[in-house]
Amino acid sequence: MKNIKDYPLDVLKEEIKQMGEKPYRAEQIFQWLYVEKVKSFDDMTNLSLALREKLKQHYTICNFQILKKQESKDGTKKYLLDVLDGNAIETVLMEYSYGKTICVSSQVGCKMGCKFCASTGIPFVRSLTAGEIVEQILTVEQDTGERISNVVFMGIGEPLDNYENVVNSIRIINHPKGLAIGARHISISTSGIVPRIYDLAKENIQCTLSISLHATSNEKRSKMMPINQKYPIEQLIQACKDYIAMTNKRVSFEYALAKDNNDNREDAKQLVQLLKGMLCHVNLIPINPIENGKFSKSSNENIIDFRDYLNEHGIVATIRRELGSDIDAACGQLRKKNLK
Ligand code: SAH
Repeated sequence: MKNIKDYPLDVLKEEIKQMGEKPYRAEQIFQWLYVEKVKSFDDMTNLSLALREKLKQHYTICNFQILKKQESKDGTKKYLLDVLDGNAIETVLMEYSYGKTICVSSQVGCKMGCKFCASTGIPFVRSLTAGEIVEQILTVEQDTGERISNVVFMGIGEPLDNYENVVNSIRIINHPKGLAIGARHISISTSGIVPRIYDLAKENIQCTLSISLHATSNEKRSKMMPINQKYPIEQLIQACKDYIAMTNKRVSFEYALAKDNNDNREDAKQLVQLLKGMLCHVNLIPINPIENGKFSKSSNENIIDFRDYLNEHGIVATIRRELGSDIDAACGQLRKKNLK
């Protein structure tokens, strides 16, 4: 059966029309799902009983079960959610001064194989549907009773390897009649699937694009991220420049600092060269060492020095606060296995 939460409003209108119903019914359904946040068609009391029955015959309302929840000292919460087909995914909620940020997964597993990421080595199972991405937000909002203000696609999976579903989920998350989370509060993070960056630029979605860069030479980046062999740095940076020109939006670069790997002055210099003149921001992440991984964290001193060098040379850079590391919920630590 189809999941009613898979459809952006305009597509849901078409679906409803095909059932011989007036399109405004789709708006009512949308309101029940994303404003009232009901969990069953029976609760949609302004729809006729006949329509509710018809909806039940054609669609499910996918309601995730929370299999496990862990809470960090810093308030970060990690959820293991049952996606109703025997698979489980992880979602993390973080507290920032500006509001609650949810880190959603876009796939069950990931194909990218980044060497520093805990998802590597776990088999890829499948992509999540738009409704399954949206459901992560609904489940966590319901559990905490609080509104989520920011969404980052930085959980498990490569969002641009699940392009259509991710874009559809954003259309639901962002729609004023849906979850109404402003596009500026939504970030897509990608390992750099160049053709999809161009597609995204044409979507007219105002969300932030984050690029997991992590190195400035092809040799080094390919060792960390195999995707670099397919889309090398020159192509990736050109795509970012084109993205900025097409959208007028600032691109964010993620750079995970690993000791003696990509964290010395020479690396900082090259990064300045690479990003000079671009409308961008660099997010420095102290790398989180993973089991049997060969990367270790840079010293705090080095991280601060790296940031200062970038800032002094005209590249806006900040160090990302580490949240949830005590519950393995920090960047790149999400791994189903830990929870079982
Ligand atoms: N596939 C997407 C989104 C998921 S990963 C991407 O690659 O961007 C989210 C972010 O966490 C990425 O920037 C990724 O490079 C980073 N990351 C993964 N493992 C990490 C680790 N061990 N330490 C620090 N950052 C990590």
